[in-house]
Amino acid sequence: MTTYERRRAPEPSRCIAAHPEDPTNCAGPRDAVIVLDSHGGKAAGCEHHAARLLASLDGARVEPGSIPGAAARAFQAADSIRPFCWFTNAVRTESSQLSRAEHRIARNHRH
Ligand SMILES: [Zn+2]
Repeated sequence: MTTYERRRAPEPSRCIAAHPEDPTNCAGPRDAVIVLDSHGGKAAGCEHHAARLLASLDGARVEPGSIPGAAARAFQAADSIRPFCWFTNAVRTESSQLSRAEHRIARNHRH
């Protein structure tokens, strides 16, 4: 049993990778992608929420789930998703709040 499996989801119709404060619905099967956090926790999730979780967790990785190619797509999508992107009124001033793609753009503009 992992941390994710023990935590009771407030919205049982969604996958485990869906953050409790993320209001969006699942897209596709709920075990399409496996997300691994840096502490060894595992969470099966749909492609949509796996990508969002991946973008929000430092050092997280993905493993293939039930859908071939979904893990790779989630990994790619996570690149342009901001951490905790569902907090839409948050002021984005810290570099840790920007997506990896935005970090690259910021770097490219600096020289
Ligand atoms: Zn989901």
